[in-house]
Amino acid sequence: MLNALTIDVEEYFHARRLSRGIDVDDWPTLPPQLPHVMHVLLEMLDQYPVKVTFFVLGWIAKQYPQLIRSLSQQGHEIASHGYYHHNITQLSQQAFYQDLKQAKHCLEDCIGLPVIGYRAPNFSLNHKTPWAWEILAKAGYSYSSSVYPIYHDHYGWPDGPRFMLRTPASPLIEVPISTLRFGKISLPCGGGGYFRLLPYAYSAQAIRILNQKEKQPVIFYFHPWELSTALPTTASVSWINWRLSTLNQQKMHKKLNQLLQQFQWGTVSDVLKQSLYASCSHAYTR
Ligand SMILES: [Zn+2]
Repeated sequence: MLNALTIDVEEYFHARRLSRGIDVDDWPTLPPQLPHVMHVLLEMLDQYPVKVTFFVLGWIAKQYPQLIRSLSQQGHEIASHGYYHHNITQLSQQAFYQDLKQAKHCLEDCIGLPVIGYRAPNFSLNHKTPWAWEILAKAGYSYSSSVYPIYHDHYGWPDGPRFMLRTPASPLIEVPISTLRFGKISLPCGGGGYFRLLPYAYSAQAIRILNQKEKQPVIFYFHPWELSTALPTTASVSWINWRLSTLNQQKMHKKLNQLLQQFQWGTVSDVLKQSLYASCSHAYTR
């Protein structure tokens, strides 16, 4: 089964745990990691016949237009991660719309192709933002991959949908990050810090269960900065947040190679084409 491999293209100083005390005005003054880690990442991806979805922050596309253009020219899908990495929960509906449009225009100017996908920073589409899907549709997006239906200290929508579905703003589709169901609890297995911190076998077994038993494609994500082995420290980061953000970074390269070898991956758009009307038979109801 084809699964979706997605990469949120942002700097370490955009990550929630590492961005404390850092303002938008500080971003250009901080030492960048993205050019180096993207080079490492692309060398790895080039070894496999795989195309992935990059959810690119608009601000990043403005800094590195040639990099983003080349990703698109290599056949990868470019989607939006917003412009300023603001959580939807912190924005008014009007401000959210403006951020969506600014990111979409910036990315489309950069690659010369329509941008149809969106991922909310910190998976901040949840029960507090029921209006977000309507605004995404109004801003011209066709799908969102912004829901992570888990309990988490920073994000998540524990009662949110687990599998792709038509939203009330149809034809907008939501493509949630993958989880495993254990009793009444959904366990995270769609990448990010859980992939980096837990043994590889956990993710591999979860993907097998989802593909073979639940007959569902996996939606998996990580960040380029998680491959860095020398992240610069940022001023106000607590020890625990620094540790959680940097632990096992040296293992990411090997784990990602295992993932790429063992399972079949494509873009979110590829997965939607493959399975949308086979597995997306239900609509969201509140
Ligand atoms: Zn992000």
